[in-house]
Amino acid sequence: MTTPRIAIVTGAARGIGASIALRLAEDGHDIAVLDLDESTCAATVAAVTQLGRRAVAIGADVADEAAIRAAVAKVVGALGGPTILVNNAGIIRDRSLAKMTIDDWDSVITVNLRGAFLMSRELQPHMRAAGWGRIVNLSSTAALGNVGEANYSAAKAGVQGFTKSLALELGRYGITANAVAPGFVVTEMTRAVAERTGMSFDEMKQQQIDATAVGRTGQPEEIAHAVSFFADERSGFVTGQILYVAGGPRG
Ligand code: NAP
Repeated sequence: MTTPRIAIVTGAARGIGASIALRLAEDGHDIAVLDLDESTCAATVAAVTQLGRRAVAIGADVADEAAIRAAVAKVVGALGGPTILVNNAGIIRDRSLAKMTIDDWDSVITVNLRGAFLMSRELQPHMRAAGWGRIVNLSSTAALGNVGEANYSAAKAGVQGFTKSLALELGRYGITANAVAPGFVVTEMTRAVAERTGMSFDEMKQQQIDATAVGRTGQPEEIAHAVSFFADERSGFVTGQILYVAGGPRG
């Protein structure tokens, strides 16, 4: 049994983030459901509330410093000081290196990497005040390299280095930092990848299934399970780790 805490999950309106929010609510935590548009958070908020936990919808761009400051203040006012942070918000802008624009590069680095930095920096005073904290960052198997994803691969590899540095800096305050690196999980994001490559989603899923040891794609709940482990009270001796949840050996 883990002590009830207040958690912020970014990009929690849908997909993996929504599953993480629900899983942390099942674990007994209250949840700030943060996404770009506050109105899109309603379904996740309702599902958390149905589980008997408190929830608040927060609209903010994780890459916008002023917005994040205001968002965290709103969470503190509504729920209290958050001590669990899941940096899940992420975007892709896949293109071959030859065709990749500066905007493709900057937007992916900004949301995936600067977003995690800003959120972590904003929340660490609350974790330090509590003498306890859990930061869980979403990396990806793309950190190991992926054709057409130089921007995303760089961001997700950056997330891994960022995680290890936080673990070293914050450990003495009772704060752990770990990362979950999913393989192919069925969400809107992977559906969009298929659309961009001109492949049907079923074709793309089959390609992934063929390349995966366990012979299937991943589900958002399986990523949430790994996040739950890192966020748990009993995982305090685990920090700076990257856990590939990818249906096969990676890393
Ligand atoms: P998703 O379905 O695209 O959901 C991402 C959510 O993040 C969306 O609700 C999106 O809002 C939100 N978001 C985007 N930019 C944001 C910003 N600047 N500030 C706040 N929220 C923002 O993605 P997913 O597949 O669930 O992926 C979740 C995380 O897992 C990402 O970090 C992704 O890179 C990582 N991951 C996914 C897979 C996979 O196979 N799905 C594999 C490896 C890693 P909008 O809808 O308004 O854009």
